[in-house]
Amino acid sequence: MIEMLRRSGIRVRLTLWYVLLLALILALFSTLLYLILDRALYGQVDEGLRLSAEQVRGAVRRENGRLQVVSSEGESEVTPLGERGLLVRVIDMEGRVAASAGPFRALTIPPEALDAARQGLSLSSTTAALGNNAPVRIYTVPYIEDGTVYGSIHVGQSLEEVQETLQRLVLILAVMTPLTLLLASAGGLFLANRALSPIDRVTRATQRISAEHLDQRLNLALPDDEVGRLARTLDGMLERLDEAFRRQRQFTADASHELRTPLAIMKGNIGVALHRPRQPAEYRAVLTDVEEEVDRLTRLVEDLLLLARTDTGQPLLHREPLDLVGLLQVVAEQVQPMAEAKGIALDVDLPPSLQIEGDPDKLVRLFLNLLDNAVKYTPEGGHVALRAAEAGKRGELGGGGEPGERGVMVQIVDDGPGVPPDQLPLIFERFYRADTSRSRTGGGAGLGLALARSIAEAHGGRIEVQSAREKGSTFTVWLPAPDDQPSP
Ligand code: ADP
Repeated sequence: MIEMLRRSGIRVRLTLWYVLLLALILALFSTLLYLILDRALYGQVDEGLRLSAEQVRGAVRRENGRLQVVSSEGESEVTPLGERGLLVRVIDMEGRVAASAGPFRALTIPPEALDAARQGLSLSSTTAALGNNAPVRIYTVPYIEDGTVYGSIHVGQSLEEVQETLQRLVLILAVMTPLTLLLASAGGLFLANRALSPIDRVTRATQRISAEHLDQRLNLALPDDEVGRLARTLDGMLERLDEAFRRQRQFTADASHELRTPLAIMKGNIGVALHRPRQPAEYRAVLTDVEEEVDRLTRLVEDLLLLARTDTGQPLLHREPLDLVGLLQVVAEQVQPMAEAKGIALDVDLPPSLQIEGDPDKLVRLFLNLLDNAVKYTPEGGHVALRAAEAGKRGELGGGGEPGERGVMVQIVDDGPGVPPDQLPLIFERFYRADTSRSRTGGGAGLGLALARSIAEAHGGRIEVQSAREKGSTFTVWLPAPDDQPSP
């Protein structure tokens, strides 16, 4: 049953819950209604009987030691009550009936009523039903003169009417409750259908869109409610998936292209060499060319591997305390020959020491890529500067870093061609190269900055660029203090 409910869909479950809740409320309401009516009806009967009993008591006299009911206008006070269907008995202490009127003559007054009267108390009591008749409600008042009880007055009424009224109520409730529940289930199902049909539309629209058609959108004209927001959220997700898939495809195409070029060059060289027998020197020349291309391929594959590793969000496998200043000096020394060859002044301005935690090999890659780019893209006779400071002293370096962040800041500044503003967001993309540097002799594969950013982020840091055309570029790397870094 429960399993069936679980599979029957939200609308049926909602309706069932709704009907169940309504049934509980109706049951509570019916019970309360019955109890209130019951009390009110019995209270009314008791009040009527009490008034009648008081009226009779007012007419009772004691004459010659016997109780009598005085008559007004020649008629005993009890007769009209009897004609109204009330039982009236006036009984003295010896149990003799002084006056009697109305129906139920065979009825004996319950002993507890007589006892109460004997003690001078009034009492409402109910006799057991006589045969098929309904029980009779009796109100008893004592007749007291000078503090002595001389007898009792009992006025009774059949409870038939009260019972009939209550039974009618039960019947009405018994018919109305299932009817209401039936109508409520129909209404509930209708409402649930109305509320959920937009979700079905979203489901159908989503089913149409597969991985092949990620450019499609649900584009459902839904109001700005829960379902509308769901549809728009799905559209947003599709947008991001589409973008991610597109980039993935672009990445694969770019990577294949980059790998194909050196392979084609090697194939060409080897083909030419094998065409006819050659001198050893010629073979050597071809092999040297091939080795160059193999080196290029190896670098590319290593870069791709490193990017793929940092991409999966794996924390740094290797991390150790190190002095960034020593590391930066090594990097500066590596680019120094290239800078000298181009007549570029390399200005290195470093503090005595900067302690951080990180992977030294990867950090060398990061700063080498940046410094290499600066020297590579700056024309002859230009200037390149490498500076570093604690982030707290970033005033010296100007800009970058959020207030309150502790860490280390490294800047690589050049006065080269700069990056056009429209390309600034793109240069960190994989395989992105500005058109001007598309020549294979000058630029690399376009992975340098993507790798640099990946490495900075794997260290919990980031990399920013400021650049103006013909004014040069400033790359700022920010690395967090050792205890602020994400733990592996
Ligand atoms: P590449 O292998 O082409 O150097 P990068 O990812 O290192 O690839 O750089 C991407 C592009 O960003 C480069 O092609 C170049 O156009 C631009 N770029 C990077 N550094 C500089 C710089 N210091 N000055 C001007 N342009 C730069």
